[in-house]
Amino acid sequence: MSIITVSDKAFEMATTVLVIGGGACGCCAALAVREAGGEVMVLERDDLPRGSTSLSGGQIPAGGTALQRAAGVEDSGDLLAHDLIVKAKHQNDEAMARHIAAQSARTVDWLVESHGVPLSSQQAFRYPGHSAQHMHATPQKSGAELLVCLHNAVAAAAIDVVLSAHVTDLFARDDGRVVGVRVCRPDGSVEEIGCEALILACNGYGGNPKMLQRYIPEIAQAHYHGHVGNQGDAVNWGLELGASVSDMGSFQGYGAVITPVMIHLAWACITEGGIQVNTSGQRFSHENTGYSEQALNVIGQPDGVAWTIFDQRGQDIAMELVYHREALEMGAIRQVDTIAQIADIVGCDTATLAATMADVAAMGRGEKDDPFGRDFTTKPTLVAPYYVAKVTGALFHTQGGLDVDLEGRVLREDGTALANLFAGGGAARGLSGPSDWGYLSGSGLMMATTLGRLAGTAAAAMTAD
Ligand SMILES: Cc1cc2nc3c(=O)[nH]c(=O)nc-3n(C[C@H](O)[C@H](O)[C@H](O)COP(=O)(O)OP(=O)(O)OC[C@H]3O[C@@H](n4cnc5c(N)ncnc54)[C@H](O)[C@@H]3O)c2cc1C
Repeated sequence: MSIITVSDKAFEMATTVLVIGGGACGCCAALAVREAGGEVMVLERDDLPRGSTSLSGGQIPAGGTALQRAAGVEDSGDLLAHDLIVKAKHQNDEAMARHIAAQSARTVDWLVESHGVPLSSQQAFRYPGHSAQHMHATPQKSGAELLVCLHNAVAAAAIDVVLSAHVTDLFARDDGRVVGVRVCRPDGSVEEIGCEALILACNGYGGNPKMLQRYIPEIAQAHYHGHVGNQGDAVNWGLELGASVSDMGSFQGYGAVITPVMIHLAWACITEGGIQVNTSGQRFSHENTGYSEQALNVIGQPDGVAWTIFDQRGQDIAMELVYHREALEMGAIRQVDTIAQIADIVGCDTATLAATMADVAAMGRGEKDDPFGRDFTTKPTLVAPYYVAKVTGALFHTQGGLDVDLEGRVLREDGTALANLFAGGGAARGLSGPSDWGYLSGSGLMMATTLGRLAGTAAAAMTAD
């Protein structure tokens, strides 16, 4: 992976705007270029586009969409921006958070109205830190379905997507202007493609253990639940070209990946009053501060595991999600009737677990305060039948990345933009601030879709005749 400096290079094959990565960001960027009348090609390393987008829950937050208005949800870009900034304790790029939040509704409306992506406003439950029902998802509520829909839209717009096209190097002039890329094919052959602008939509460095060890050692040994093809290429190319990066120690974790099947448990199990206990049958944290920061809380427990205990209310909401149904079918989520049966599954003392559950019930009645600060009075007390899943904490995606302006143009340390390089989605600095606690649920796909769209529009404008 490197930058090859050239002064004058001719390419046998060329397009106007090249997009590296066929996830949500790459698809939205390409659609925006095409809509602006530009020529565009997407290069994707996999033989079938997957990316973290297809592994995700597919929930896209936005504030003030037509879908929300039709469903009677009161929301706005301002409210979403407020949630993003408060969750990150004002330590994120507030101008970017406001801009992305303000543009988010337009992105969702555009995906639905111009590109037939069958999104709907999600009402079933509210994620931690969301002060309105911000989420939108496709019928199956899965990232896999979302990515298929996005690629259908890309195909309908007659955009070339080249699969099994692993970009290994960029060709650039010594002033940093990118003139093309080198692509390695599965048979070892190499192709070179010229471009006038390049959009990096190849996500972060979650799949690169060395970069994790260097930038986020506290999560480097954890299970990585994102796409392994995301090797940090965007960051490394950007750095070589003189770009600046920020928040490289920031990440989105998840405190409930069911082990050993490694399927993520729907967070509604927690929001609806569910708790987590360790191998001793004791709670160890405020489970619902955010699923991201809960990852390290779980990893910090004996054997790095916990048991999530919830009841029918969480289960009914979670059953709308395809991956939750899969986990249930596999027997990775167990239904039981008594606390003694839960204790059997956990392998802990029944009396200790019963005391934990009695404490939670007392907190729900307002008779006790939670030592971890959670308010249990807003949800009914957990009742049988209970559901139990053994979980661990995991890394979902990195949040550090290339500094970009409001149009996705990659910036140098001095704030000036590189000539023709754009980045979006997980390739760009996220909205979480410096650590794991700043991630507002869903800001990953919002950055991918909205910054992708904005970068595509800007790249098309820059390269227009
Ligand atoms: C389990 C899980 C659940 C999640 N759930 C949600 C959710 O519900 N809502 C939400 O907002 N976010 C969620 N996220 C985060 C979200 O998935 C990401 O923020 C988002 O998908 C990033 O999109 P992207 O297009 O930047 O990256 P990706 O979708 O990962 O796409 C990047 C693409 O680039 C390709 N690529 C990489 N390097 C190269 C190269 N050198 N050459 C060619 N191609 C390359 C990769 O193969 C990949 O296809 C979740 C993440 C995970 C892991």
